[in-house]
Amino acid sequence: EKQKLKRIKTTAATTLDGTTVELHANIELPQDIEQVKENGATGIGLFRSEFLFLNRDTLPDEDEQFEAYRTVARKMRGLPVTIRTFDLGADKNLDSAKRVAANPALGLRAIRLCLAEPQMFHTQLRAILRASRYGQMRILVPMLSSVAEITQTLHLIENAKQSLRHEKLLFDEKIQVGGMIEVPAAALCLDIFMRKLDFLSIGTNDLIQYTLAIDRADDSVAHLYDSLHPAVLRLVAHIIRSANRTGVPVTVCGEMAGDILFTRLLLGFGLRLFSMHPAQLLTVKREVLRSNLSDIIPLTQKMLKADDPAKIQALLAKLNS
Ligand code: PEP
Ligand code: MG
Repeated sequence: EKQKLKRIKTTAATTLDGTTVELHANIELPQDIEQVKENGATGIGLFRSEFLFLNRDTLPDEDEQFEAYRTVARKMRGLPVTIRTFDLGADKNLDSAKRVAANPALGLRAIRLCLAEPQMFHTQLRAILRASRYGQMRILVPMLSSVAEITQTLHLIENAKQSLRHEKLLFDEKIQVGGMIEVPAAALCLDIFMRKLDFLSIGTNDLIQYTLAIDRADDSVAHLYDSLHPAVLRLVAHIIRSANRTGVPVTVCGEMAGDILFTRLLLGFGLRLFSMHPAQLLTVKREVLRSNLSDIIPLTQKMLKADDPAKIQALLAKLNS
């Protein structure tokens, strides 16, 4: 079975009716690149850079971060590498952020923490920029909920660039900056966000959590965490459709992208770029290779109009049959 899948490693992910999609990989550390290569990903859609922080007491300094990002860029040999800026929570190991939040998921996490800790953010931005000349690097900002956060982030990126110019250090002047769409507020005013961002990445893990008000880490409500809730389907479809209409590249990098239960659903919504754990990549590709967009689209349109969960389940089963 595994051997069979390996045969499609270098095959383009093209549907039966001729639409090709890109399959990128999510990584946590530079050593994950090996698995990425084994599974034939055509880029890194999500490097969860906060993993550089785990199991240690001190922050990784600029040079250490630079080495990590450069290693990934070099090993990907010109393929896109998307570095997500730190998605650290209020409970993580920064002293200044150590107050215990009552609702960490709603607290000082991700971009909020980075904007509150500009020195830490500046260090990371400089490291990413310095590594950007060794490949096709992109910056991805997590958990955006307001345009002001984008404006501030772009300003800090410009500051970091300016500091490198002063030191005559080279970087990709045109590095793209994208945003994670994982807070409903961002999804609902996507038009405003898209004016300021080069690309979007849908974080379905958090988008589902925040849309349904279900803590993704709380087992007692896990049965209510529903990727097929009509609100989730409509939001995800809306984001993909708006981005496609505006011509802004859009990815899904949450768990939905790596689950073959949802491959056809997302194709039908118009998704053409998926990013997932490398171990899931070839099974998703096999699913794409077996799919026909002209069969899928009418069913996904029906799913968006369905009101009854049983009806949505039945349509999904038909879609995947
Ligand atoms: C997500 O929220 O879907 C996502 C990809 O990011 P993380 O799981 O790291 O929050
Ligand atoms: Mg997330």
